[in-house]
Amino acid sequence: MEQILKAIPNIPKQDAVPSYDEMMEMRVKAYNSVKGSLTGYDCCECLNKGYIAKISDGNEVMSECKCMKIRSTLHRIKQSGLENQLKACTFKNFQTDSEWQRQMKAAAAEFVKSDSIGFFIGGQSGCGKTHICTAIIGNFIKQGLSARYFVWREDSTILKAMVNDREYTERINEFKTADVLYIDDLFKQKDVKDADIKLAFELIDYRLRQKLKTVISTEIDEDALIKCDEGLASRILQMSRGFRLIIPYDRNRNYRLRKE
Ligand SMILES: [Zn+2]
Repeated sequence: MEQILKAIPNIPKQDAVPSYDEMMEMRVKAYNSVKGSLTGYDCCECLNKGYIAKISDGNEVMSECKCMKIRSTLHRIKQSGLENQLKACTFKNFQTDSEWQRQMKAAAAEFVKSDSIGFFIGGQSGCGKTHICTAIIGNFIKQGLSARYFVWREDSTILKAMVNDREYTERINEFKTADVLYIDDLFKQKDVKDADIKLAFELIDYRLRQKLKTVISTEIDEDALIKCDEGLASRILQMSRGFRLIIPYDRNRNYRLRKE
């Protein structure tokens, strides 16, 4: 025993031998102070190990650090080739030369701080819709939420083609259940078919019922959306209440931000 005590300099007296609980605490502290080797995101909570040791009901347990969610989102974004877009499209570098652009940015910045579940921006193409929506997603990722991009033209084609396959459910569930989903360029196609409505409905209806955050950009406006399908349109309008923006085709006209 003497030898053991000599080896632990901070415990000089025999009656100060640490209890089982104290030893456990020391082990937990020791584990949590070791640096890990995970890359891609610097986490000050787990020091890039991905796990945090804790004592729960007298037992030492390992819990997954919340950065793992961020890491997995970043990994998926990297795989999908959207990493550069996320880096390039921030609130900071969004051009705000005109009033409507300033309002667009202000609405997006307000949305990321709010409890609202939907952000809808429609109308004029090439006016920075994708930029502002990407900045919203980047902000949510920083807040620790898992995020998925649904690039309508590509992902809807893939999903519609596999609708009868066994993997369909698994694949669509990734989009249905993400903390934040960005549907980029909804209905970006010449004609919207029943299969498109069905797919969009499956995503939107589920996310609305689960109160999950959904960001939608599209070139069509509310009227065109209602013409496509009233059930789908009413759900989109319901989820984006307070954060529904339409950029008119004539840019000289005033930009409307609808709030109810
Ligand atoms: Zn962490």
